Amino acid sequence: MLADLHAHSTASDGLLSPEALVAAAHAAGVQLFALTDHDTLAGQQRAQAEAKRLGMGYVTGVEVSAQWRGRSVHILGLNIALDSPELCQLLAEQALVRERRAQVIGERLAKAGWPGAYDAAKTYAGSADIARPHFARHLIAVGAVKDMDQAFKRFLGEGKLGDVKAIWPDVHQSVSAIVAAGGRAVLAHPLKYDLTRRKLIELLRVFQTAGGQGMEVVSGYQAPPATAQMAGLCRELGLLASCGSDFHAPQAPWQALGAFGTLAADLTPVWHDWVDSTSVTCPA
Ligand code: AMP
Ligand code: MN
Ligand code: MN
Ligand code: MN
Repeated sequence: MLADLHAHSTASDGLLSPEALVAAAHAAGVQLFALTDHDTLAGQQRAQAEAKRLGMGYVTGVEVSAQWRGRSVHILGLNIALDSPELCQLLAEQALVRERRAQVIGERLAKAGWPGAYDAAKTYAGSADIARPHFARHLIAVGAVKDMDQAFKRFLGEGKLGDVKAIWPDVHQSVSAIVAAGGRAVLAHPLKYDLTRRKLIELLRVFQTAGGQGMEVVSGYQAPPATAQMAGLCRELGLLASCGSDFHAPQAPWQALGAFGTLAADLTPVWHDWVDSTSVTCPA
């Protein structure tokens, strides 16, 4: 089973429409797919419809921005009901948080000599809620930086002006909303938080206590030792294993759809009991 359970569309900070994304995943050989846009379900119906049309297995998804000890962590909600009042309420609040944060980032960039960034980011976002990559695209367009990476290093990343602290719901609230929606919470890209092994285990235990059930053992391209390390943690903590590209754009080959290592055979995949469920139609 080639599953890719983490990807973004134009409903958040991805570059492909939900339909184009699903078609690209299908073309890449993905058999079970989840669109997991940041803090929104806006692309779900379109992605689901396109997957159905192509005969590809589809799981509903979202990537919730949360906070733990003052840092941002991302929690995937997979196989969620799209009409859950608890989850919809949390995501409605996230949209307001994103809007307020975008205004603050715009003001800070203006003070730093880059006016007009809020309006430009809003234009890049279109109908999506503003995310930092929308600011990055503007900073690249006006020549402030040469690429995404530099935009985060100089303006938007950890400790820089775009890093607005303590705005997201905590791990407990985020996981609870996913569980209330009948979904499974999965800690996204555990290696991206720059945590020591001990701290990461602390985070995972808090996450499990809150009702979290899985972790991404594979996230996009990663070196084999990193995958082995994540598989080890997954076993040690008795979590379900997930994998995903975290695809945003065709220009980033390290996040190519469906193109990452497989999960070790002894791990229990997060989708193990979904394949025959009514919400997931998988090719045999
Ligand atoms: P936001 O959701 O507004 O907090 O923005 C976070 C998003 O920015 C992530 O989901 C990534 O898509 C992107 N991102 C974060 N760090 C980097 C980085 N160093 N280089 C490129 N993109 C990044
Ligand atoms: Mn993103
Ligand atoms: Mn993420
Ligand atoms: Mn993501």
